[in-house]
Amino acid sequence: MPHVITQSCCNDGSCVFACPVNCIHPTPDEPGFATSEMLYIDPVACVDCGACVDACPVGAIASDTRLTPEQIPFAELNASYYPPRPAGVKTPPTSKLAPVIPPLEIRARRHPLTVAIVGSGPAGMYAADELLTQSGVRVNVFEKLPTPYGLVRAGVAPDHQSTKRVTRLFDRIADHRDFRFFLNVEVGKHVSHSELRAHHHAVLYAVGAPNDRRLDIDGMGLPGTGTATEFVAWINGHPEFAALPVDLRYERVVIIGNGNVALDVARVLTADLNELARTDISDHALSTFRNSAVREVVIAARRTPVHSAFTLPELIGLVAASEVVIDAADRDRVRRDLATVSDPVARTKLEILSTLPDGSAPSSRPRIRLAYQLAPQRILGKQRVSGVEFVVTGTDEVRRIDTGLVLTSIGYRGKPIRDLPFDDAAGVVPNDGGRVIDPDSGRPLPGAYVAGWIKRGPTGFIGTNKTCSLQTVRALVADFNEGRLSDPVAGSDALAKLVRARQPNVVDAAGWRAIDAAEVIRGNADGRPRNKFTSIADMLAAAAAAPVPPRRRLTDRLRHLTLPN
Ligand code: FAD
Ligand code: NAP
Repeated sequence: MPHVITQSCCNDGSCVFACPVNCIHPTPDEPGFATSEMLYIDPVACVDCGACVDACPVGAIASDTRLTPEQIPFAELNASYYPPRPAGVKTPPTSKLAPVIPPLEIRARRHPLTVAIVGSGPAGMYAADELLTQSGVRVNVFEKLPTPYGLVRAGVAPDHQSTKRVTRLFDRIADHRDFRFFLNVEVGKHVSHSELRAHHHAVLYAVGAPNDRRLDIDGMGLPGTGTATEFVAWINGHPEFAALPVDLRYERVVIIGNGNVALDVARVLTADLNELARTDISDHALSTFRNSAVREVVIAARRTPVHSAFTLPELIGLVAASEVVIDAADRDRVRRDLATVSDPVARTKLEILSTLPDGSAPSSRPRIRLAYQLAPQRILGKQRVSGVEFVVTGTDEVRRIDTGLVLTSIGYRGKPIRDLPFDDAAGVVPNDGGRVIDPDSGRPLPGAYVAGWIKRGPTGFIGTNKTCSLQTVRALVADFNEGRLSDPVAGSDALAKLVRARQPNVVDAAGWRAIDAAEVIRGNADGRPRNKFTSIADMLAAAAAAPVPPRRRLTDRLRHLTLPN
């Protein structure tokens, strides 16, 4: 029976390389890969070996006989990517990724390639993985939080636990003997770019895009307005957002923007509490949700249904998990658009939208209303939000929606990195294939690289960062091989000493493992995958319980022996 890729596909392409018959497309070297909403298994060519199931880091692949009812639409979706053919027709194998460092070159060097990676989200971890495929390379990963993995921990929705399973792959990468974590260390605050340069051949920034795009209309900033960026960080227990004031005593929430983040927020706001209580949602969010009065979440898009920013897999998942409605006028628009659209993914999205009810029937559970052609004009209210005023796009018609909470979900934005150039219009570090470019000279800044959202902007899935990081790593290694990177002036002990002097509370891999284990134990007691610590102090206390490595115990014993009585 053929295998099927389902909703949580992260596009990292691991399955493509595991597949012995090249039946998974688009592959990273095919043109459609960068823009594809997911990867698809060709049911005609699949030989049912299951190699892709083992390779997938997020558990997104299942045999077509084992699909849950919600996953069944994905069987047709996978098949529809391929033109109809007779059974047994195979495509030629895709090219595997080439090794990046000629082994002889590296043996000839005095200093093995040593790279500092700043940020431990997907881009940083995939970059480390690519570098460590070569023997003798050393990687130090600096992360400002005591816990690693960026948006996988602090962004991916708590009800998408299978997506969060990619952290197991990241844990395996971090276990490599030439990988070292410096957690709870903020580059630009505790250590500078030039200090990292002095201790490494290269510094690769994978710091993501932590800010949000601002909606510049009157009334934003009133109590009751906020951003999805802050809201998802609060739900996910990010320590900087634990005290966010979230008030859910209102019947309607309006979300502006209809990307996948908007869908995540709406789904969680209307989710069954018993199901949420079995996830790793933060305790503070869960207790706020227990007292929620929310009955409807409106997702307001400024354009028409055919331009919906959410992806098809996420729409399929939303409709399966939640009660979703659409106004009759928008549904008529969907049906008109269907007559003109030929792209299969866009058509399937419209077909799903065309079957949604209009919400006129009473509902026993909170619902999500998809609304279109609403361009936000101003936030209404004096002491706090009472509504949002929109103009219906392409008309003069003004429409008002009453609400007590408005969340903008209009995209993320990179922020400047100290000592590096910044392209303020694009919100990224200027770069050429990952090499940071000095805008004055137009030439690469020696030893500085970027990957992930700070390199290409805030779009794409977890796995999109794998090919992005590979491109950067290839540029970095080419520069190293051609002698363009200066050797570090000090060794790893000097680096560790410098970091500890600046940040005595640095957390290492053992510390992270101790935090991880403590969170899992706390969670399992309540039938949850983990119960996250949401304060840095609690994380550090858990990290301190990490077993002392044997070498250190010996040193401690020797020190003890030399102490005066
Ligand atoms: P990030 O994941 O943001 O990682 C950046 C890391 O750098 C962070 O850990 C940060 O703390 C650290 N850092 C920043 N500055 C410094 C500094 N100065 N010093 C040290 N460390 C620093 N994709 C999917 O495939 N499936 C999903 O379900 C999914 N859900 C998402 C939900 C949300 C809300 C969002 C916003 C995105 C989601 N994505 C999802 C997309 C995916 O999360 C991103 O593609 C990916 O996380 C980007 O990776 P990154 O490494 O560039 O950035
Ligand atoms: P996004 O997909 O770029 O969507 C942004 C939305 O904001 C769009 O609807 C856009 O409308 C709207 N918008 C922008 N400016 C606006 C303005 N001034 N006024 C009104 N609306 C405005 O961003 P996102 O939802 O933050 O997602 C970021 C990335 O993470 C995406 O690539 C997404 O796929 C990924 N992600 C993936 C998952 C998953 O796989 N499960 C989950 C979450 C996020 P227009 O189209 O009209 O510009």
